[in-house]
Amino acid sequence: MKVVDVKNWFCRYAEVIQEKKSFLTELDSAIGDGDHGTNMARGWKEVQTQLKAFKGGLSECFLLVSRTLISHVGGASGPLYGTAFLRMSMVLKEKEHISVEDWKELLNAGCEGIGQRGGTSGGEKTMYDVWLAVTNEAQQETGDDERSLFSRLSEAARKKVEESKELKALKGRASYLGDRSIGHIDPGSESTALLFETLDQTMSQ
Ligand code: ADP
Ligand code: MG
Ligand code: MG
Repeated sequence: MKVVDVKNWFCRYAEVIQEKKSFLTELDSAIGDGDHGTNMARGWKEVQTQLKAFKGGLSECFLLVSRTLISHVGGASGPLYGTAFLRMSMVLKEKEHISVEDWKELLNAGCEGIGQRGGTSGGEKTMYDVWLAVTNEAQQETGDDERSLFSRLSEAARKKVEESKELKALKGRASYLGDRSIGHIDPGSESTALLFETLDQTMSQ
């Protein structure tokens, strides 16, 4: 995967977020404060604008996303996603191409960043659960076929969103609801699954 593919992925994700804005907000209205869709849409619209003029390399591209999300997404999700993209940007220093092996390291770094930032190690019904599922799935890929990797990641993410629906939220605003959070999809988990589904779709074209 090269920088042009990464740009396509991020630009397409920005569109997906616009399309899913009301759905994400609906999910957050049920167990949070109803702003995840607008938070994400604001941040990713700005990413899209910034990327139009962007001419840098892989590491800078992830850094641009990190900075933009930290400064434009209000709420918990901004710093969380911002940290993930920052850590990923650090792994990509000097790289012009992301191999399947690089993806393993990249996802490890992003996932670890979210876990540290959110103070979670999983099972607490947050986006971290989905990042961790995707990261673990990546380690299972033995070949160097990125198509197969992306399709695995996308499936693992969606599966985890469904599984974690039954969990009780122990972090973030949804935790205030206690048992009443059970049976609802976590909004940040949904937006994370959309990120990896969009990666798979963009790279299958
Ligand atoms: P806010 O909760 O501040 O309104 P958002 O609605 O944009 O922010 O994002 C909420 C999402 O952030 C949740 O669905 C969850 O996935 C994620 N989140 C919240 N707190 C944490 C945490 N401590 N660790 C990991 N993820 C978290
Ligand atoms: Mg919210
Ligand atoms: Mg909020």
